[in-house]
Amino acid sequence: MTVKDNFDQIQAEIASICERVGRDSQSVHIVAVTKYVSTERAQEAIDAGVNHLGENRVEGIEEKRESLGDVVSWHFIGSLQSKKVKKVIDHITYLHSLDRLSLAKEVDKRLEGKQTLDCFVQVNVSGEESKSGLHPQEVLPFIEELSNYPSINVIGLMTMAPFVEDNEQTRPIFKKLKQLQLSIAEKGYKHAPCTELSMGMSNDYHIAIEEGATFVRIGTALVGNEK
Ligand SMILES: *Cc1c(COP(=O)(O)O)cnc(C)c1O
Repeated sequence: MTVKDNFDQIQAEIASICERVGRDSQSVHIVAVTKYVSTERAQEAIDAGVNHLGENRVEGIEEKRESLGDVVSWHFIGSLQSKKVKKVIDHITYLHSLDRLSLAKEVDKRLEGKQTLDCFVQVNVSGEESKSGLHPQEVLPFIEELSNYPSINVIGLMTMAPFVEDNEQTRPIFKKLKQLQLSIAEKGYKHAPCTELSMGMSNDYHIAIEEGATFVRIGTALVGNEK
């Protein structure tokens, strides 16, 4: 299957899910995760019509963005060390992994209040030890603190569901993130509109969309895995 075939199929699936659950399919953005593939393969995704590319490593973003340019929006989806912020800050439009104040502080310092960065606060809904992100009860106080960093715009929440055989088991996790997102959006914080949900990957994006995902991060099912 070419990337174009995969993209067409995923888009058709998203359209049918959205119709079934009564959502506008325009509200779902597909982020093609290119961390397992070459720059050439990422170019195929752009040619197929993908508008968002995601990488989880600083080197991955630097390398691909240098050859592919900014015809697409770049998403940083992995954990980010504060000392590496300066390397990616000029390349990215979205940060999906804001999980601590020291990172917010560094981003804010680099942007010098001249610009804002659209960020998702990463939440560890499942509470698995191995997952990064804040525990659900920490999210609201954390977001309140973020008002001290004017360059941070909290557009939403992000989570990674645990890998399970039966992906129906991820549904409660997505539901919980949606509830949390709504409870924050309700506060009407200027620095944290929190209207978006980054959730769902190759194996569980169908369920994530049923539960309200607005950004799905799809690697393997879209561009494949060359590693
Ligand atoms: C790798 C990765 C993805 C995509 O994973 P696939 O299963 O290949 O779709 C999504 N989100 C994050 C944070 C990732 O690191």
